[in-house]
Amino acid sequence: MKRILCLALILCLLLTAAFADPEAERQLEKEIGAFEITAAQRELARTNAAGYPVLDAGRGNPNWINAQARSAYARLMNYAIGECELTLHEGGMAGQAKKAGIGERFDAAMDPEDPTDAFLISAVELCVNTLGLNKDSMLKELVDAIIGDYYPTPSRCLSNTEAILNAFLQDTLYNGADLAGRTGVFPTEGGSAAMVYIFEALSHNRLLKPGDQIAIATPIFTPYMQIPSVKDYGLVSVDVSSTAEDNWDIAEEQIAKLEDPSVKAFFLVNPSNPASHALSQNTLARLAQAVEKNPDLIILTDDVYGTFAEDFQSVYAALPYNTILVYSFSKLYGVTGWRIGMIAMQDENVCDRLLSQLPEEDKNYLREEYAIVTADPDAMPFLDRVVADSRSIGLYHTSGLSTPSQVFMDLLALSHLIYSARGEEDPYIRLANDTVRARYAALMDALGLEQDQSEANAQYYTLVDVYALVEAEYGGELLQWLQAEKTEIDFLSDLAARKGVVLMYGPGFSAPAGTVRISLANLNTEDYLEIARRLFELLDEYCEEAGIALENAA
Ligand SMILES: *Cc1c(COP(=O)(O)O)cnc(C)c1O
Repeated sequence: MKRILCLALILCLLLTAAFADPEAERQLEKEIGAFEITAAQRELARTNAAGYPVLDAGRGNPNWINAQARSAYARLMNYAIGECELTLHEGGMAGQAKKAGIGERFDAAMDPEDPTDAFLISAVELCVNTLGLNKDSMLKELVDAIIGDYYPTPSRCLSNTEAILNAFLQDTLYNGADLAGRTGVFPTEGGSAAMVYIFEALSHNRLLKPGDQIAIATPIFTPYMQIPSVKDYGLVSVDVSSTAEDNWDIAEEQIAKLEDPSVKAFFLVNPSNPASHALSQNTLARLAQAVEKNPDLIILTDDVYGTFAEDFQSVYAALPYNTILVYSFSKLYGVTGWRIGMIAMQDENVCDRLLSQLPEEDKNYLREEYAIVTADPDAMPFLDRVVADSRSIGLYHTSGLSTPSQVFMDLLALSHLIYSARGEEDPYIRLANDTVRARYAALMDALGLEQDQSEANAQYYTLVDVYALVEAEYGGELLQWLQAEKTEIDFLSDLAARKGVVLMYGPGFSAPAGTVRISLANLNTEDYLEIARRLFELLDEYCEEAGIALENAA
């Protein structure tokens, strides 16, 4: 606690020192990042002058969880322990599960009248009837995996898990597109680890070299840009920016930047963070044209918010050969503490082609690198290299996400798939979407701002232009005073210190000056009304400080 307070104090001092010089402020915020600025404001909010309860709409951690898959996990664990006790049961010790007859024992153990058992029965039926998995093999893999008494084998992904996750991705992110090739999956410790592993493997495998240009769809979730393999490998970033005027879609001339063959990779979050908008079909088509001109382009898309936009289609579904897909269960299912996400890519993909075309010197280097784990390094697919690199190659044999975590991913995916197999809408996804939508509508209404109800708007976050809001509600005089007297961080600090409200600094994500990111994931609808009320209360106080009569306010 003391350390946090100390850190907050130091940050405040640093920020105060920077106020005098906007350039210095920008430099500073680049170094400390939007998340650290928010941490300092969280401290200010805790002891806010008004004595209000803190309303923290900074982070994107949702305040809902998926209960069904968790109940199923507990039930399945219990069943699996019973299976192990069949071979040995002495005190706290049990044996290892046996495959013979496991399907029949599962059927006998499950009670169709119990909702959790009924879910597990449907889930297993779906795996057998729809995904074509073998019942006994699948149950044995599930039982061993949830018990966690074997190293993950295959280390990249358990084979039934891969089939289940494939079906989930197909159903939630492809928007009906049937991909010609097979998708390989590598479950990881969340989307965060997925990104770290991919950038490490791209640079280690010399697909991205110092001095190479990588294009980044901005504004964007900044921590990704602070990964050493992005920051320190001398990659040069090119902004492919979107604006509020274009409804946060990427304009043609921005996509055109990707046609330049010196741009080696394009990295995007879709739907975006902080703007929370998905790319339109039109932009996907435009992107495909750019790839025709720059066929070596490696696209990396983080689709963690994909299920929150209506009729969403991933760039991976539009351009499977060129795209590496990252997905995380963190947000939709409220599993940020579990650390579960994945990397998915086609068996035939641009990375493997580029590996085969590397200069002989690079190939020789990589042959030596991977020779310790494979007899035929040249034939090692990029995705397997990502897995090996995640354990610095040498410990490849102990790589892979923990098997109980893979089982939990199965159950989350199956909680969705049982509905799509019946041709029904998934009520959980509907509810998650309706939840953020109700909060968004309440907030925008209370702020007097127009709602954007387009399909592309995932409404998980919203970017609010505080300058535009001040001008519309109070007039140009207060806006001028605000811009002259307060930096944007001053404003956010005042909001925290005086009113107990924490929002995130938009420019920290390369969003325009004057914007703040408000998360719609972690507070209840009425809290968003209260955020708007407190924000106006602060602006009223500013009017007083500026000597602007409130009745003059618009
Ligand atoms: C929240 C978030 C994630 C999820 O990350 P995890 O490591 O899976 O928790 C991924 N990408 C973006 C852009 C996010 O905002």
